[in-house]
Amino acid sequence: MSDPHLTLEQTHALAMRILTRHRIGEAQAQAIADTVTHAERDECKSHGLFRIPGYVKAAKSGKADGHAVPLIKDLAPGVIHIDSKRGFAPLALKTAYAPLIERTRQQGIAAAGITNTHHFAALWPEVETLAGHGLVAFAFTAALSYVAPAGGTKPLYGTNPMGFAWPRQGHSPLVFDQASSASARGEIQLHLRDGKPIPEGWALGPDGAPTTDPEMALKGAQLCFGGYKGAAIALMVELLAGALIGDLFSFESTAADNGDGGPPTGGEFLLCIDPAKTNGAGSNALAHAEKLFEAIMAQPGTRLPSDRRYEARKRTPEEGITVAPVLYEELQRLAAQ
Ligand code: NDP
Repeated sequence: MSDPHLTLEQTHALAMRILTRHRIGEAQAQAIADTVTHAERDECKSHGLFRIPGYVKAAKSGKADGHAVPLIKDLAPGVIHIDSKRGFAPLALKTAYAPLIERTRQQGIAAAGITNTHHFAALWPEVETLAGHGLVAFAFTAALSYVAPAGGTKPLYGTNPMGFAWPRQGHSPLVFDQASSASARGEIQLHLRDGKPIPEGWALGPDGAPTTDPEMALKGAQLCFGGYKGAAIALMVELLAGALIGDLFSFESTAADNGDGGPPTGGEFLLCIDPAKTNGAGSNALAHAEKLFEAIMAQPGTRLPSDRRYEARKRTPEEGITVAPVLYEELQRLAAQ
């Protein structure tokens, strides 16, 4: 039998039905359902419907407040603070966009610190949105302690992703968005669900030895990509999304977590630059960048980061998406409660 199939509209409606039946208000639910549907649209399965049960767990346990209204405050002419009030990150991000774009256009550069939030998603939605307004954007968020520092065997860092987007004229933005761990944790969870081994180099077991068993990997420590170089990025993300904006490090978030399996508490740091205001040579930064992209694409075997998602985005509105049967059953159960 083929896997259950949904249109993108059905995906969004299913997400809304579940979220609003489980202590999540309309505004928070709408922002989450948009994020999850966009992940399914772009075939980023580990941040699609797969995340819905986690949002529900955090709302039901009371760790997150599904009715929170984010509070925005100016800290400096180019720095804004969004207190998510224990809500989920998608609504806090929606709240941040307009003032962050406005400040960046005024000053050439601006930053936003989102604190007291529950982030469970990819970072490309935020940087792509900001780049869609002609701005260069960076995003950083920490998570729970899953990843060993370089040379260590015990979890300390989060999987700590960073996202980057560059605006393009006549094209969707160039975006990369990657965990500083060798894999996102969701990928290991998907391997466990599907009974598949994980690649070598992703994790150590609880005994500190390398493992390809996803269950042992989840009990042990994930590894950074590229050894100490990825570990330096994980460290930077901890500092930017933690100490810099006044939120928790991953190990502090782990200590505060109730273990419900939902998104942890933490912060997100956004940095935004207007390329029309940084180019002292007076040249067109975006036109110049296109030459680099052309040179990359001139080599066989290359592609630009984000092209895979944009290709998927052309297909899924017509073709719809499939959902793993075990996840579909869980979602139907949640929708019926
Ligand atoms: P991947 O390794 O799948 O991809 C990383 C980046 O590399 C993507 O931008 C991808 O673009 C690009 N890429 C992949 N292959 C190529 C290629 N051959 N040529 C050029 N570019 C390429 O991502 P990760 O597994 O590291 O992370 C997955 C997601 O998990 C991210 O979205 C991240 O934000 C999220 N995450 C979220 C966390 C949280 O706490 N909120 C924690 C950790 C991760 P493309 O998309 O086009 O394939």
